[in-house]
Amino acid sequence: MVSSSDIGRTMRPALDIVWFKRDLRLRDHAPLCRVMHNPRPILLLYIFEPDLIHDPHYSERHWRFVVQSLVDLQAQLSEFQTQVLVLQGAVQTVFDTLLSQCDIGNVYSHEEIGIELTYVRDRAMQQYFHQHHIKWTETPYSVVRRGLNHRQDWSKYWHEMMEKPCDDPDLAAIPFVSQTMVEQLTHQALAIQDIELPTPQWSESHPNFQIGGEKRAWHTYYSFLDQRGKSYARHISSPELSRKSCTRLSPYIAWGNITIKQTYQKLDTLNEADYQGWKRALSAMVSRLHWHCHFIQKFESECAMEMRPVNHAYQAYPYEIDQDVISRRLKAWKTGTTGIPIVDANMRAVIATGYINFRMRAMLVSVLSHHFNLDWRLGVKHLAAQFLDFEPGIHYPQFQMQAGVTGTNTIRLYNPIKQSQEKDPQGRFIKQWVPELREYPDDMVHTPWAISPMERQLFGIDEAGEYPTPVVDIEDAAKMARDRLWSFQKRPDVAKDARRILKKHIVPVSR
Ligand SMILES: Cc1cc2nc3c(=O)[nH]c(=O)nc-3n(C[C@H](O)[C@H](O)[C@H](O)COP(=O)(O)OP(=O)(O)OC[C@H]3O[C@@H](n4cnc5c(N)ncnc54)[C@H](O)[C@@H]3O)c2cc1C
Repeated sequence: MVSSSDIGRTMRPALDIVWFKRDLRLRDHAPLCRVMHNPRPILLLYIFEPDLIHDPHYSERHWRFVVQSLVDLQAQLSEFQTQVLVLQGAVQTVFDTLLSQCDIGNVYSHEEIGIELTYVRDRAMQQYFHQHHIKWTETPYSVVRRGLNHRQDWSKYWHEMMEKPCDDPDLAAIPFVSQTMVEQLTHQALAIQDIELPTPQWSESHPNFQIGGEKRAWHTYYSFLDQRGKSYARHISSPELSRKSCTRLSPYIAWGNITIKQTYQKLDTLNEADYQGWKRALSAMVSRLHWHCHFIQKFESECAMEMRPVNHAYQAYPYEIDQDVISRRLKAWKTGTTGIPIVDANMRAVIATGYINFRMRAMLVSVLSHHFNLDWRLGVKHLAAQFLDFEPGIHYPQFQMQAGVTGTNTIRLYNPIKQSQEKDPQGRFIKQWVPELREYPDDMVHTPWAISPMERQLFGIDEAGEYPTPVVDIEDAAKMARDRLWSFQKRPDVAKDARRILKKHIVPVSR
C-alpha cells in the first residue's frame, strides 16, 4: 500500500487508476477485476465534470444520485482502508494535477456510450494518455459492441453474454492506495484553481426521488421480487400503478449501481415454487432487459441521432415554423400547463419525482411531435434532464421512435384522452398532480373543457385558479398529424433511408 508519506518525497509514488463513470458499483465490474493483484497500487477516481454539470441533458437530480452512489461506495470501501478520490473539475485538469504528484502507468474504465460531449472528451483523453505514456484500457459496456454495423447473431450473443459469470472482483486482492493518501491527493488537488469538491447541496437527499447506491439498487430489486412485481405486466401502462409494480431499476441501471447481467442472473436463482403466477411478469421484464441493450447498441452504432433524425429524410419534415406558436406550445408542454390533464399530470410528476412509466413517456413525446407539431429536438433535452434514469442510448432512439422519424417503426399517435380514460380511469393520478381538477367528478377529469356552467355550479367547482383550456384542439390536431405523417412516410427518400436503417439495426428473428 502506498502511504501519504510517499507523496512529497523525491520519489513520486507510482500507481494505476480505475476511473469510475456511469459504473458506480463494486460488483460485476470488469475494470476492478483487472486490477486484482495489480503490481502497482490502485487509486479509485470519480470526476464531476463542469461541462456535464452544465449540459442541458443533466440536472441537479442526477448529481445528487451520483453523490449518493459515491457515499455508498465509500461506506463499502472503508473496510479496505481506501476511498474513491472525488473531485470536481475538467478531466484533463484533474489528471494534470495527479500527474504532478504521482507516476500513473495505467487507467482502467468502462467504455461510455454517452452524448457527444463525453465522446469528444474521451477522444481528447485518448490523445492525452498517449502523450503522457499512460495506457488506457477500456472494457465494453454490458454487451454493447463498439463499431458494430450489423446485427447478425446479436440476440444469440446477448444470451451467451448473460449466461457468463459476472465480473465480481475479490476486493481484498486489490492493492488499493491508503485512505490517507486519497485525503492528501484531495488536499493537493484543491489547491489548484478550477478543482473543487462536488457542490455541497447535492449531499442533501430529496424525499421525492429514488436514492442512489448499490445497496439501494438491490433493495429495490428484492422488493420487486418479494412482492411488488407480481402485477408488473398488468400495471405496466398505468401511470399510477406502474410506480409500484415496475422494477424501478432504471436509474440504478443507468448509473451503473446494478448491471443488466446481475439483474438477469438473479432470476435464475429464484425458487420456481415461490413464483407461481409470475411467468408473464418475469418474461416481460427479461424482454425489457434485452431492449435496454438493443437500444444502446443502436445508439452506439448511430450516435449522430443525438443531433438529427436517424432517417435523414425527416430533416425535411414540415414542423410548425411560427415562432410564437412554437414557444407557446413548448412552454405549455414543458411546464405541464397544456390544458390536457393526462399530459400535464405526467409532466408535473416527472418534474417532481424523476419518474414516469414507458407509456406515459411515449405519450408525452407523441403529443409534442404530433399534436403540437414541434420538432422532437425541442423537447428531448428537457425530458432527459427530468428522467432520473437518463440513459442517452435509450432516450434518443426511443424519443425518435415515438416522434415517428425513423421510417421503420409503426407510427403511434397516442390519443391523450383515450390514454387518460383507459390508464387512469378514476383520474386518481391526474388529481394527484393537477390539483386544479380535484373537485371534478371522476369521469369529467379527462376532458375538463367539456364541463357545462351548470355542472360547474352543481359540483362546486371554483372559477378561481382555473385550469387552462387545451392549447390545441386535440381531434383536429390529431387528424392533421395523421395526414402529415402518413403522406411523409410514403416519400421515396424516407423508404430509401429506412432500408439502410433496417440493414444496420434490425435484429434478425432467431429460430
Ligand atoms: C421517450 C422515451 C424516453 C426514454 N428514456 C429512457 C431513459 O433515458 N433511460 C431509461 O432507462 N429508459 C428510458 N425509456 C424506457 C422506459 O420508459 C424506462 O426504462 C422504464 O420506464 C423505466 O422503468 P422501470 O425501471 O420500472 O422499467 P421496467 O419496465 O421494470 O424494465 C426494467 C428495465 O428494462 C429497461 N427498459 C424498460 N423499458 C425499456 C424500453 N422501452 N427500452 C429500453 N429499455 C427498457 C430499463 O433499463 C428498465 O429499468 C424511455 C422511453 C421513452 C418512450
